[in-house]
Amino acid sequence: MSFVDGPVLAVAIDPGRLAAGIVDSDGEILVRDRVSTPPREVWRSLETLVSRVLAARPDDLPPPISVGVSCAGPLDLAAGSVTPELMPAWIGFALRDRLELLTGLPVVLDSAAGAAAEAERLFGDATEVRSFLTLMLGRTVESACVIDEVRLRGAHGNAGSLAHLTVEPDGLTCTCGASGCLSAYASSTSIEAEIKRPLRRATDSIIDRTGIMIGRAIASSAAMFEVSTFLLSGVVLDTFGDPLLESIRREVDLRSQLAASEKLRVLESSGFIRSLVAAASLPRSIDT
Ligand SMILES: [Zn+2]
Repeated sequence: MSFVDGPVLAVAIDPGRLAAGIVDSDGEILVRDRVSTPPREVWRSLETLVSRVLAARPDDLPPPISVGVSCAGPLDLAAGSVTPELMPAWIGFALRDRLELLTGLPVVLDSAAGAAAEAERLFGDATEVRSFLTLMLGRTVESACVIDEVRLRGAHGNAGSLAHLTVEPDGLTCTCGASGCLSAYASSTSIEAEIKRPLRRATDSIIDRTGIMIGRAIASSAAMFEVSTFLLSGVVLDTFGDPLLESIRREVDLRSQLAASEKLRVLESSGFIRSLVAAASLPRSIDT
């Protein structure tokens, strides 16, 4: 059975928002809805949202034939379960089984950054690039890595994650308990907790420091994975804009002195893959 010959029910879950929609095989979102992620009873909210989206399908649109779901990491792809950062209500939550039971459809689960990477390969900036890393700077830091057209997954599906890479020895305490992780400097949650004001009111020095920390993570992973294309997205990039990109590039230049790093590219994900389109690409990615 092909997963690509019909609409996909797309579900995208992060600590701030639950989104669901019906996406056709061209990547067009035909029905969509979303709610804020509640602190408790997350599944009940998601169940209601998904049922509402399925009920809103126009009569002339065939029903979805599969489900693609992306969730903030970390997750366990073998078990089909998720333990998203900043969502304490879900610890080892059996998301794939629950969605299969709810919809009666085959469900493909991946991390938010993994879904973005698959979508970039199918629709976005990375269709011509064999190796790249996606880095999403949102409420959490999410990343995924593709090398020679192969997605790194690891034992549980979290390989290529840069969130807890040390970028500042003895630095700020991270939510994971360690010090100096990228996540403690580059997620909107950690920045706002530190400056005690909204992201858009961050000072130039905070923006510069954020760029330096991201640049360190990029330079280290470029050296390790031999990846030269980094696709950045997320609310931190959207809010800080060009000054952040300039700081990142300056730090990457400073720290990447290897010959292979000469063509290191840091790109804003201009092909803007919305989270629902990314989730909808998951059934398609395993079909191709
Ligand atoms: Zn950490």
